[in-house]
Amino acid sequence: MSRVLITSAIPYINGIKHLGNLVGSMLPADLYARYRRGRGDEVLFLCATDEHGTPAEIAAQKAGKPVAEYCAEMWQTQKDLSDGFLLSFDKFGRSSSAQNRQLTQHFAAKLYEAGLIEERTETQVYSNADGRFLPDRYIEGTCPNCGYDKARGDQCENCTKQLDPVDLIEPRSAISGSTDLEVRETKHLYLLQSKMRDDLRNWIDTREDWPILTTSIAKKWLDDGDGLQDRGITRDLDWGVPVKKGDAEWPGMEGKVFYVWFDAPIEYIACAKEWTDANGLGDADWQRWWRTEHGADDVRYVQFMGKDNVPFHTLSFPVTIMGANSTGEDWKLVDYIKSFNYLNYDGGQFSTSQGRGVFMDQALSILPADYWRWYLLRNAPENGDSEFTWETFQAASNRDLADVLGNFVSRVTKFCRSKFDETVPEGGTYGPEEEAVIADLTTRVAEYTRLMDAIEIRKAAAELRAIWVVGNEYLQRTAPWSAFKEDPDRAAAIIRLSLNLIRLYGILSQPFIPDAADAMLKAMRTDAAWPNDVEQALAALPAGHAFDVPENLFAKITDDQREDWASRFSGTRT
Ligand SMILES: [Zn+2]
Repeated sequence: MSRVLITSAIPYINGIKHLGNLVGSMLPADLYARYRRGRGDEVLFLCATDEHGTPAEIAAQKAGKPVAEYCAEMWQTQKDLSDGFLLSFDKFGRSSSAQNRQLTQHFAAKLYEAGLIEERTETQVYSNADGRFLPDRYIEGTCPNCGYDKARGDQCENCTKQLDPVDLIEPRSAISGSTDLEVRETKHLYLLQSKMRDDLRNWIDTREDWPILTTSIAKKWLDDGDGLQDRGITRDLDWGVPVKKGDAEWPGMEGKVFYVWFDAPIEYIACAKEWTDANGLGDADWQRWWRTEHGADDVRYVQFMGKDNVPFHTLSFPVTIMGANSTGEDWKLVDYIKSFNYLNYDGGQFSTSQGRGVFMDQALSILPADYWRWYLLRNAPENGDSEFTWETFQAASNRDLADVLGNFVSRVTKFCRSKFDETVPEGGTYGPEEEAVIADLTTRVAEYTRLMDAIEIRKAAAELRAIWVVGNEYLQRTAPWSAFKEDPDRAAAIIRLSLNLIRLYGILSQPFIPDAADAMLKAMRTDAAWPNDVEQALAALPAGHAFDVPENLFAKITDDQREDWASRFSGTRT
């Protein structure tokens, strides 16, 4: 048995995620977690909400709520939706947790001890009306270059010129609109990432099994100067992890918080402690996943994320881990990073800010999770961006799920009930047809297993579909409904193998379509042991074993439904 730690990039708190977000990290991470559990591995699967930072404060203000209350509510919303999509996290935590606060402060102390944190004094714009410092992009004014009157302090959207807040003509707060602004001195902590360049390069260069998408992004950022600059890790805000050096005060940093990008990845670790705390376990129980000298040396740690998150996970977070380890600690570095391109929507991009596309709550309001999971995973944007269209969604659901898998299960179980009864029929023996199916599936299941091990999601989905097709073609060739008239024993043998195929499909399909898979296994009244030996697995249900005829697993999507949904989700969400 192996031990596998799996994390999904943590979604930001300020709103409901769209299907592009879902397939870019959480859903494939769930696929892999379910697969590893199915293989009998010990899995810890973690995700959380990323709750700190100015966007959360602004969203709370818009909603007219205190930011802590807003985050608590949005966490519940996101938790309910992740349950709705059957995401099997062991813990869905919160980066605002007490556990993350304590760990973030701990890592800051260790990085300071390692000589990787420096205090720097700088100037920043302060809004008297808002009573706070303003991040560059929350200062608006007129662009000195093109005259656009809604230019932001970091960049003019109109002419794309990079700006400094002091460049703006008639600057004002984007929060309140106040022009009562002044430039003040303030002190911040900087993480000296550039000091770790060689260590990072040595590490990344030896990750030979990583996907090209991951290493190409990591190396680009490592070398082009922008990625590995020393970066501020503190902010003059109220909402966040207070700046402390471990448990101790940090003189001169009173009233400041850590910048969200510093504390968010530490939540991967804190989430494990949230998990043990919530389950009455001790610190040793999470440390055996995260600390190599505390039991985690045999853990394989796999991260899932969209490509925009790769720089943080290959450079910044590893600086935190390696830096703390340089003081004698033993935190685990990631072993494998699976990254994704983008899913586009009907010829454009999904957009949270513009409300464009299908969002997780909307998706579940029209169809159960399995339909979405199957479509999104079989089209996962692994080797390039992929495209959501309602036509391909309808086609994939109808052809793969309803026509191939659902139809097979329905025909076999209903035929058996009408000609025999609701038990696996006895009589007849397996001949060349059955031997061919067993041989074919032995090869295919081995290939499916290899692809799932390699997290080659699209290819694994195609192989799974091919495995379903084997059953349908077998049924077509052997035609038990005809055989029954001449030779009921022959029909019995065909149906006996077919009922065992339903069990096999239930086990193999579980990572992709867990609800339907569970329904199949429940109907067959059977367990879900992984079929390491296909011939044995296809004899698991002996003659006389009772089963139930399940409800139809999948409904077909009609053209009317497709057109209705396409028009409902064509505009922007209000
Ligand atoms: Zn401009």
